[in-house]
Amino acid sequence: MKFISPYIFQAYLTCPREAWLEYHDIHSDQEHEFLALGRLMHEDSYKRDRKEIFVDQLLKIDLFKDQMVAEVKKSSRHINAAKMQLAYYLYYLKHNKGLKFKGVLLFPKERKKETITLTQELEEKIKNLLEEIKDTLTKDRPPKKKKIRFCKTCAFYEFCFGDEE
Ligand code: SF4
Repeated sequence: MKFISPYIFQAYLTCPREAWLEYHDIHSDQEHEFLALGRLMHEDSYKRDRKEIFVDQLLKIDLFKDQMVAEVKKSSRHINAAKMQLAYYLYYLKHNKGLKFKGVLLFPKERKKETITLTQELEEKIKNLLEEIKDTLTKDRPPKKKKIRFCKTCAFYEFCFGDEE
């Protein structure tokens, strides 16, 4: 199976259906205002302090000052999923590259940051989640749509619920 990118990993934590659609290259509307805002924030914030590098042409990571892996988010709305996504970056770097880093989540709009350390407990959680994600993504059909509070801002909203309006 294809590499499970950190983006898919995070999407799964919010909505397994969204992760399945992205993984199977059924892309959401790239011009969706929330995606556009996310890109803009990502490009402009903390430019001086960050250095982008590619790992295995699979992971694009941002090294922040003090050699921390950084991830910029437009809001802390999905903070738990964002923490796990960053922990997955750290997990990949440790197990595939032998590199041990700490991570930092940056929320420029809220002037907030949060540091993540890859503990043994977190590693176990990631391992179990990866098994679960693989199981879902290799199914022939996406998980059923289910209205959750994130649907309203999801770029797949039309795709999932367009016929109900
Ligand atoms: S609209 Fe809702 S159900 Fe559909 S992919 Fe997005 S979050 Fe999941």
